[in-house]
Amino acid sequence: MSHIIVVGGGHAAAQICASLIEAGQGERVVLVSDEAYVPYQRPPLSKSYLKEPEPAPAWIRADSFYTGKGVALRLSSRAMRIDRQACQLHLADGTTLPYEQLVLATGTRARTLPGLEGMGANVHTLRTLDDAARLRQQSQQAEHVLVVGGGFIGLEIAATMALQGKRVTLLESAPRLLARSVSPEVSQFLLAHHRSRGVDIRLDACIERFEGDEQGVKQVWLNGEALPVDMVIVGIGAVPNEELASDAGLLCENGIVVDENMRTSDPQILAIGDCTAFPSHILGRRLRLESIQNANDQARCAAATLLGQTQAYRALPWFWSDQGEVRLQIVGLAQPHHQRVLRGQMHDGKFSVLYFDGEVLAAVESINSPSDHMAARKLVAAGQAVPAEQAQDVSVPLKTFEAQAA
Ligand SMILES: Cc1cc2nc3c(=O)[nH]c(=O)nc-3n(C[C@H](O)[C@H](O)[C@H](O)COP(=O)(O)OP(=O)(O)OC[C@H]3O[C@@H](n4cnc5c(N)ncnc54)[C@H](O)[C@@H]3O)c2cc1C
Repeated sequence: MSHIIVVGGGHAAAQICASLIEAGQGERVVLVSDEAYVPYQRPPLSKSYLKEPEPAPAWIRADSFYTGKGVALRLSSRAMRIDRQACQLHLADGTTLPYEQLVLATGTRARTLPGLEGMGANVHTLRTLDDAARLRQQSQQAEHVLVVGGGFIGLEIAATMALQGKRVTLLESAPRLLARSVSPEVSQFLLAHHRSRGVDIRLDACIERFEGDEQGVKQVWLNGEALPVDMVIVGIGAVPNEELASDAGLLCENGIVVDENMRTSDPQILAIGDCTAFPSHILGRRLRLESIQNANDQARCAAATLLGQTQAYRALPWFWSDQGEVRLQIVGLAQPHHQRVLRGQMHDGKFSVLYFDGEVLAAVESINSPSDHMAARKLVAAGQAVPAEQAQDVSVPLKTFEAQAA
């Protein structure tokens, strides 16, 4: 039987297994993951997992879902090298697996901060269940928590820790939070919200140095001021795990380059999820996204390619981030030429920022407004004109315009 090997144990890997199982192809699939567990939900790791008294991992599917349909699980197995001539995958334990089709779903790893080398004991990044367990355990004794990075994960962790009564300082080197991901309005709202919950947020922060001993970091120097530190959490973004692909000569440019069917520069090798640089039909250029939606939808697209039912990847990007009591939801890709219109009042703690491309609703960021988000997903997907002035009026539900769009 010809084999499909999937490398990775995250959301994209779980979904491609599910799609192939659904198509009756489970027995052809081998899942190779360097984690010790079947795929689990990553989003709770920076949220509920850090605060619940006895958190349990949220498995995407139970082991039996895979094994019961013939998927061979190779957990705690790292893929080291692809031999494209021989169509073989070499694992760290010396095993060689033949493949007919290979799917790389290797995701990303957390970026590390220069200057913290050798001060490891209380320095954390968060990507895996094991990272979350370590972070959670150490946070129980910590009073002063330093979060480096005002991105999604940094803000989620800061909010969770502040709700637990920790003294949280968050350092962001840019002049605003989430500067590359959200509008100035959402940045401003989040800044005020997190500060009101006790998070000491320093923008334009320039770290001079960390000081500590073999026990870990004890303080950080910032613009001439020393801040006490019991633990440091570095949340400064992620880098794609593309080395397996690039070492095999596959084209990589901030991610493994794929076409609209998820094929890499070798047609027998596909790539999906956070690790890919794919052609965005919205932007007209290559893009790498880090989101559950993108991982799942690319996995479905790749499964269709493997099954000979090729369909171009045209999914609408959407994303969410839960930060304490705030739910931020985003749909579409905002671009500099879009015009922003505020729907609702920021001081109500509930509003949306609508992005218009001419008269077309192109993207929406919603704060604590799930009904706006759900309606926006339909409106943005339909790519249709929405009257901006009426859409600003919160007394008119956004879904009113859905009917006009349909
Ligand atoms: C703490 C946290 C919170 C998040 N919250 C949200 C959220 O609220 N909303 C949202 O949309 N997204 C969120 N994300 C992002 C989301 O989790 C990712 O977009 C998603 O996990 C991507 O799935 P993936 O399968 O592409 O990669 P991953 O889930 O990263 O999986 C990659 C897998 O490949 C394995 N691997 C890598 N190299 C090898 C190798 N050589 N051999 C074997 N195995 C290998 C890795 O160990 C890992 O298991 C969050 C991420 C984190 C870390």
